[in-house]
Amino acid sequence: MNGYEKIAYLKGLIEGSDFELEPKVKRAVDALLDTLSAIAEDLSKTNLRVDELDDSVEEVYGTMEVISHTIMETLNIDEHGHFYEDDDDELYDILCPNCGEVVVVDEDSFDEGSVVCFECGTLIDLDLDDDDDDDDDDDD
Ligand SMILES: [Zn+2]
Repeated sequence: MNGYEKIAYLKGLIEGSDFELEPKVKRAVDALLDTLSAIAEDLSKTNLRVDELDDSVEEVYGTMEVISHTIMETLNIDEHGHFYEDDDDELYDILCPNCGEVVVVDEDSFDEGSVVCFECGTLIDLDLDDDDDDDDDDDD
């Protein structure tokens, strides 16, 4: 039985009984039951609010987890709070053969085999084992 049901039960008990209540006492009992009803209503509203807050807190926790994961990934911190080396993000400076501008490239660009110079738009070959145009004339 929740609060409402208990109060309803109490009301029924009092109204259904055949004992005569003096008007003063009856007024006091009625006032008491009204007060109890009001308290039960407030409590039920409070419980709803607590449920809403619970949901909000859960949402905030979820968001915090995402943010914390992003920060740890960005700063290279593992789940034990230790820093680690992230080889994937290593950057290299290369010179554009056309305009001489320094172009910063990462591992991904090397995997792709080329990068476009941001200054002049030249496609720069990043194939590191590119030694096949040196020894073309040794066919004697
Ligand atoms: Zn260039």
